[in-house]
This record gives sequence, structure tokens and C-alpha cells, in this order.
Amino acid sequence: MNIHEYQAAELFAKYGLPINPGRVARTPEEAAEHARAIGGTVVLKAQVHSGGRGKAGGVKLAKSPEEAAEKTGQILGLDIRGHIVQQVLVAPGADIAKEYYLGAILDREARGITMMGSAEGGVDIEEVARTNPEAIIKVTADPLLGLQDYEARELAFGMGIEAAEVNSFVAIVKQLYSAFVGEDASLAEINPLIRTGDGKWAAIDSKMVLDDSALYRHPGLEGLRDLAEENPTEIEAKKAGLAFVKLDGEIGCMVNGAGLSMATMDAIKFAGGSPANFLDVGGGATSKQVVQGLQLILADPNVTAILFNIFGGIARCDVIAQGIVDGLTQIEVKVPLVVRLLGTNQEEGRRILRESGFDLITADTMSEAAQKVVAAAAGR
Ligand code: GDP
Ligand code: MN
Repeated sequence: MNIHEYQAAELFAKYGLPINPGRVARTPEEAAEHARAIGGTVVLKAQVHSGGRGKAGGVKLAKSPEEAAEKTGQILGLDIRGHIVQQVLVAPGADIAKEYYLGAILDREARGITMMGSAEGGVDIEEVARTNPEAIIKVTADPLLGLQDYEARELAFGMGIEAAEVNSFVAIVKQLYSAFVGEDASLAEINPLIRTGDGKWAAIDSKMVLDDSALYRHPGLEGLRDLAEENPTEIEAKKAGLAFVKLDGEIGCMVNGAGLSMATMDAIKFAGGSPANFLDVGGGATSKQVVQGLQLILADPNVTAILFNIFGGIARCDVIAQGIVDGLTQIEVKVPLVVRLLGTNQEEGRRILRESGFDLITADTMSEAAQKVVAAAAGR
């Protein structure tokens, strides 16, 4: 789950990180009020689930409440990488002497929590990773032992932090690690972490991605969800009780079971296509679920063919086939449909599909199904 900068900053503050506390405004007038209360120069920052706000005009300084109102008016409604700004964070303007990058990620490859730092902070860290990867220093902490002081110091030395600042920097690295573990994050980032003109550390841009699967351990965090920022199709799917993840390909997938769904996506890739979604309709695949699933898949204009890959284990193929047929009578599908139905009562299921009168392409094996749907998607 993605959260906003100001929410991440509030979580970071619990762990002692030196964040720049601000207030959120939804109108220019509110921004002016906040600016007046804070006093002096303030920074106005678009709150959207996207980076690159600075470059997109979503971060501006204002020297007076009037200027804060005017600039907030410019930021509200901006489209930043497809995210429309509805809230602006008003915070004390920071006096930046040097910008660093500091991040923590769940590093499956290294089987630990990797802390990353760079003296090339402030800018797009993905860009640094591409063009100048040596500028990013990494240390991986063993999740059972936790981050050790010497590991945090290694990061500091690698980043070229001055000797006199190493201890205070190490404290920040450890706080970020604690925040990451304590909130069950999959990513925690400060970019930039700055040295101020008067020689202090300040975290002026906080980012956190929370692990959805761990949210049950943190009842308070669910409230940080911003539905306006989430994929509308995924929200619909959640309401319908379907596991749906939007992807970038052209082949819609309707599969029962998560494992079979993963294997189906692999088979499509292997056949030269690309899945448009992950969708596990569950064991039953009733006509209601089929209709809801088709609606989710067809909401994506990129979809040029759909593959049903259904295994009748506990569920029976004839019941599922009837669900598919009932579903297809309720919703118009203009793209080719490939169906693979296998398992308990498969003959009966195939007969129902055959006699339904719908124009369905059938397949027996997984690879045949994948090849047929890839061909159909390409119009072959
Ligand atoms: P991002 O572009 O979405 O990552 O947004 P950031 O919050 O990181 O802001 C982008 C850049 O704006 C930072 O790297 C800073 O250079 C600058 N910036 C942000 N806040 C302040 C501030 O309070 N004072 C000054 N002078 N610059 C700031
Ligand atoms: Mn940033």
C-alpha cells in the first residue's frame, strides 16, 4: 500500500527521524492559514502517490501567506504522472546545504533488508542507479540480527559522510531501519536527507510503501489508504472479493487459483504474449464472478483477447462452464475468447460450452491455450 509523504513523515517521526513537520491544505485559503501559523518561508508540496513532483512543478517555495495561497492554487489540480493533486503539504522551508539519499528495501535477492545511501541525493535515484550505479552504496542487514552499527558506519563511509557527522548519521540510518521493520514496510525512503545551513540533519521528503499482507498487524495503518490514488479496477475487484492485479499486457486472464494464475501468465509470456492482468476468480467461478471478472478485464482498453484457464478440482467443470455461459449472456465480449477447461466432469463442461452457441476457441493443454490466445490477440 502506498501512502502520502506527510503520512510517511508522521510514521517516521515515531522513530525519532528528524522530519520537517507540516500541515495539509486542500484549498489556497487553508494553505495561507498554515503558512501564517508556520511563519517565514514555507515549502508547498503536492501530495500524490508519485515521485518527480519537483520537476513537475509540484514543489514550490513561498515567502508569504499570500504567495502560499497563489502557488497552492497552481499546484492543486496538477497532473503529476497521471496523479491529480488534491492536497498540498505546507511545511517550513528548509535551508539546504547538501542533499543525500537514504533508503531501506526488502531485498529478496540478498535475503535481507538492504540499506542504500548516496551523496547524489535529491534527484531521481532510479536515474542515478542507471547512469552512475557506483554512487549508490548498499549494505544488507540480516533481518534476524537487525542492522548492526558497523554496517551503518560502512554506509556512512561509503557515502563520504564527514567523520564528525558519522555518529549522527548512523543514528538516522538505524531509525529508518526501525521504522521499516516496525511498520512492516517494503520500502522506506528519505530523498533528500539534508544537511542544513546550520549543520543539522533533516528528512525533507519521506516515502513509505507498506506491506499489504502485514496490514492486519497494524489496524491503524489501513486508515492511511487513499482510495483516490488507487487503481479503480483493483478497488472494484476487492469489493467483489476477487484477487485482481492490473498489468501492462494485452491478454486478459481469468483463472481459478493463484498458483494456476501465475503459471498461466508464465505460459502466455513463453508463447510470446503479455498478460493484461492477474485474476484469481477463486474455486467456484460462478456466473456472478465470471461477469465481475469480465467487467474488470474489459475495462482495460489494451485487452485484445481473453484466456479462461479453469481447473475443476473440488469445483466441477460443468458448473463452471454453466457459469461462463451465464456470464457471457449477461455481458458482451467483442474480443476472442480462449477456454481451457480441465478436471472433474470436463466432458460435460465442454459439451455445455460447445452447445452454448458462443464463439469460443477451446484448448486442451496449457501451452496450446497460451499459443491460441497469443495468436488470437495478434489477430491471427
Ligand atoms: P520529489 O521531487 O517528489 O522527490 O519532491 P521533494 O520533496 O524531494 O522535492 C524536490 C526537491 O525540491 C528537493 O530535492 C529539494 O532540492 C527541493 N526542496 C524541497 N523542499 C525544499 C525546501 O524546503 N527548501 C528548499 N530550498 N528546497 C526544497
Ligand atoms: Mn524527493
